[in-house]
Amino acid sequence: MEKIKIQMPDKVRKILHRLQEHGFEAYAVGGCVRDACLGRVPSDWDITTSAMPEQVKGLFRRCVDTGIAHGTITVMIGEDGFEVTTYRVDGKYSDGRHPDEVRFTPCLEEDLKRRDFTINAMAYNDTAGLIDLFGGLEDLQNRCIRCVGDPRRRFNEDALRLLRAIRFSAQLDFEIDPDTFEAARELAGTLSRISEERIAAELIKLLQSAHPEKMQLIYESGMSAVFLPEWDRIAELSCAGAHHSGTVGEHTLRVLQNVRPDRMLRLAALMHDFGKAETAVQREDGGMAFPEHAREGEKLAKKILQRLKLDRLTMDTVGALIRIHSESPGETPAQVRHFASAIGPELFESYAALKRADILSRSAGDPEEDLKRLERAEELFTQILERGDCLCIRQLALSGRDLIADGMQGGPAMGKVLEALLDEVLTDPEKNTREYLLERSRELRGQ
Ligand code: ATP
Ligand code: MG
Repeated sequence: MEKIKIQMPDKVRKILHRLQEHGFEAYAVGGCVRDACLGRVPSDWDITTSAMPEQVKGLFRRCVDTGIAHGTITVMIGEDGFEVTTYRVDGKYSDGRHPDEVRFTPCLEEDLKRRDFTINAMAYNDTAGLIDLFGGLEDLQNRCIRCVGDPRRRFNEDALRLLRAIRFSAQLDFEIDPDTFEAARELAGTLSRISEERIAAELIKLLQSAHPEKMQLIYESGMSAVFLPEWDRIAELSCAGAHHSGTVGEHTLRVLQNVRPDRMLRLAALMHDFGKAETAVQREDGGMAFPEHAREGEKLAKKILQRLKLDRLTMDTVGALIRIHSESPGETPAQVRHFASAIGPELFESYAALKRADILSRSAGDPEEDLKRLERAEELFTQILERGDCLCIRQLALSGRDLIADGMQGGPAMGKVLEALLDEVLTDPEKNTREYLLERSRELRGQ
């Protein structure tokens, strides 16, 4: 085979060279080598070296002790930081998530052996070329995720690898080697050892990947039974009816593929129909109906996101998108203004993206008419923004302060008056003048 040559950034070459000229071994390693072999641009370059952390620190002017206990020093060159880690063997894992101790080793092979998948266990420098001890390059060419060594043992050491296997398969569009996948199925239950935060981080990477439909493997492997049983409950739920045949799970996978890889949108797509499990009723014609499933879905999603320790903004945004996903914005400018105002104008674009994906992901019926209606609403919304139509109380030509100056007391009554004024202005933007609103507010106050 011809010798592989990887183009490394100058700064990486400089770091490797400096370590080597002082008698140490040094390689680019892991994800960057994998990505470079695939012709992708690596997001960051990690370096592995035989030098001990203190020796690394002695060779570079600016270093940060990022993970010195694990042998990692961040070497700063200009604005950029590079993680340089001493060759290491992970000691015994008695808890299935952290090695009890890390031990440094002078041997590159041992460092590569501790890594999760063959495609992540290659090292490279310009002198030695590609160091590929476990068939990583072949697995890259065959588009295969395979554990380094015995998959049962490797998953037992660190259960996070179970999720990482599926995450990499989604990012790279690779298959998981059958033996590795079988081991993952057997050990899916051990994911319970992993903290919700780390599970969430992997889940979000999977969702934001090029192939979020690999969420199906999370179900098939039994992993969702551990951290997302709500997914299991819709995976095989029939949604036969006017717009659908097949299952809610299949529909959800298509919606995931049909929204752009935005974190909020992908999370909302994943959970938008979770409420169907709780609300399913059989109709007389044999089809299924799911009354109020969007509201139920919002509740479930918020619970799940809280359980996964995600932030408040994510909970609120994803919850709101799910709540409104089955509503329609209407067909007239006034209806669209009312709708946008009710959901919050900043959510309109995401709402429309989720709605479009939802319509496109139906498995029965003609989507054309609903798509046209949505497009028309989007056009109207664009015009509304361009004209600067008032969509919230803050944009009214009359403020609470004006009302107080006019003799009104602050408090809930004033809020009601402002709401009523906004309602009128949403129907007719021409009415958004100080004079009209002042007069109208006096009528509303019974003066
Ligand atoms: P990404 O593009 O997501 O950063 P990556 O391959 O760089 O992908 P990291 O999580 O940054 O992934 O890890 C860097 C390297 O460390 C991996 O390529 C792998 O060799 C090793 N590694 C990371 N996590 C584990 C783990 N849980 N078990 C074994 N090896 C791991
Ligand atoms: Mg990385």
